[in-house]
Amino acid sequence: MSEARATSVERTIWRDGHFVAWRDATVHVLAQSLQRGSLAFDYLSVYETARGPAAFRLRDHVERLATTCRIVGLPLAYPVETLVEAAAETVRRNHGAKSVKISALIPSVEVELVPQDERVSVFIAAYDSGPDIIAHNPGEYRRRDVLSLKIEREKSARREDILPPHAKVGGNYTAAMTAKWRARREGFDDVVLLDENGFVTEGPTANLFLVDADGRLATPPANKVLLGITRDSVIRLARANGIHCAERDITPDELTVAAEVFLTGTSVGVWPVLRVDGGAVASGDVGPMTTRLRDRYRAVVRGEDPDFQHWLHYI
Ligand code: PMP
Repeated sequence: MSEARATSVERTIWRDGHFVAWRDATVHVLAQSLQRGSLAFDYLSVYETARGPAAFRLRDHVERLATTCRIVGLPLAYPVETLVEAAAETVRRNHGAKSVKISALIPSVEVELVPQDERVSVFIAAYDSGPDIIAHNPGEYRRRDVLSLKIEREKSARREDILPPHAKVGGNYTAAMTAKWRARREGFDDVVLLDENGFVTEGPTANLFLVDADGRLATPPANKVLLGITRDSVIRLARANGIHCAERDITPDELTVAAEVFLTGTSVGVWPVLRVDGGAVASGDVGPMTTRLRDRYRAVVRGEDPDFQHWLHYI
């Protein structure tokens, strides 16, 4: 039944240099990447601007995918330039696309953990998640403008000595998914995970920032988290506004007494957190620093900020 719904999407997906129909962009159930969590991926947004659609920091996302492949050991056969152009072409061919997902995976059916056939396939999909994905799935899709966050104390964030958090690879998401799923059933919107020393790291798919009682902006250090493109953008936009962002260890207690907390990620940009562990963050409203950075970020992605035009890849 869900198979039939999925086939109704009229999109074309780049697969190793050719375009195939949405329903044909598949792999075998025994594919190595599905069985072992070795799928490397990256995800970026396309915005409408006065000069037409633009992919936000496209090259940075493709370079991050190449980094993920390097960390995991996947031999990616395509240079960054080829994938940048392929992603742009995929957006051109999929009118109204707002998101691009690039996946690099081992499609072969394997006996051993280490693949006998090392070839890596790349798929690039460009779509509008509302009509193309959410509308085709049963169940409720939860969308929030502001968040209630749970500090996850049971499952820890990925340990650096296992696989660095800089790898956007399928297997790195399993613990976070389990934690977030449970938090959802408890009524929270999202979770933030701690590292093995009890410091705050990030959400399952977003970086975290806080503003302390003295108005200082901080985010966990780069070695503890995925190097979010939105995180980097917000740090640079803050700097352009004369605000220094400290990259330092943050304790869970600091989160509960912060003046402002927000998450950052490609899909939403700057995302205010109004509750942590059931208690309100400060007055419980969206704070002034969050508002300022969110508004500047929104102007940048829409191409309205002349200082950050270089982040837009016009299609
Ligand atoms: N952390 C993790 C673990 C993520 O998966 C994501 C989403 N890519 C982020 C942070 C935010 O990164 P970005 O701003 O590049 O979307």
